[in-house]
Amino acid sequence: AVELHGVHKWFGTHRVLDGIDLTVRPGEVTALLGPSGSGKSTLLRVINHLEKPERGYVSVNGELIGVREHGDRLRELSERAILAQRSGIGFVFQNFNLFPHLTVLDNVAAAPVATGRLHRAGARELARELLDRVGLADKSAAYPRQLSGGQQQRVAIARALALRPGVILFDEPTSALDPELVGEVLAVIKDLATSGTTLLIVTHEIGFAREVADRVVFLDGGRIVEQGPPQQVLDEPRHERTRDFLAKVL
Ligand code: ATP
Ligand code: MG
Repeated sequence: AVELHGVHKWFGTHRVLDGIDLTVRPGEVTALLGPSGSGKSTLLRVINHLEKPERGYVSVNGELIGVREHGDRLRELSERAILAQRSGIGFVFQNFNLFPHLTVLDNVAAAPVATGRLHRAGARELARELLDRVGLADKSAAYPRQLSGGQQQRVAIARALALRPGVILFDEPTSALDPELVGEVLAVIKDLATSGTTLLIVTHEIGFAREVADRVVFLDGGRIVEQGPPQQVLDEPRHERTRDFLAKVL
């Protein structure tokens, strides 16, 4: 499970996360919605300690992230320990962030080699399997620039899977894509959703959230305004801010 307890994050005097309590159960698919600037990306970044909360804490499968208990305080872990924790949490960005100078195969094989989990041959074998899973077996020798945006994003997902993460965080994975390429990426995410991986997805694809998410969380002003099953939050929102937001995006 991914758990956030009383998480506060502020930049200067600006409170970007204002007391977030959230539990994502193992295997659960959670869609995170909210207006621009509501703190969605920051919430994802706090989970893998790319941002450090000022108050509160995050745990993944019972393990504190980025900190350890020291008496009655929390103390920052070493950079090395944080990197090790982060390797168990996949992150897929809006803009793919592939390595431009590596082939598709090596983009996917790189992390298991760099983290010492697999030797090169084993990592490449795994990369082939994962590329097959995202429908790109025929693109292993290509370079990122030779692929469409949808194909690049599918490579990015295969790359995240290569570390066999228990949790994958997606930050608007389809918002940089041309409309006709959105479906192929959502299909891959949908396949992951049925495979038992815990997914937390920031998305504006309301139809996708309705179909795939077990739970929808609506964030506004750094607070969770409401959450629940998609039918409840999307079709019968209880809060005016949720209704206003949905009226704009639907
Ligand atoms: P969007 O839908 O536009 O991606 P978001 O919900 O992901 O928005 P965040 O990126 O989490 O929003 O940002 C929330 C607020 O925090 C914004 O007002 C943003 O300007 C501010 N913010 C984010 N990162 C920083 C930073 N490193 N320094 C200062 N302010 C920041
Ligand atoms: Mg964002």
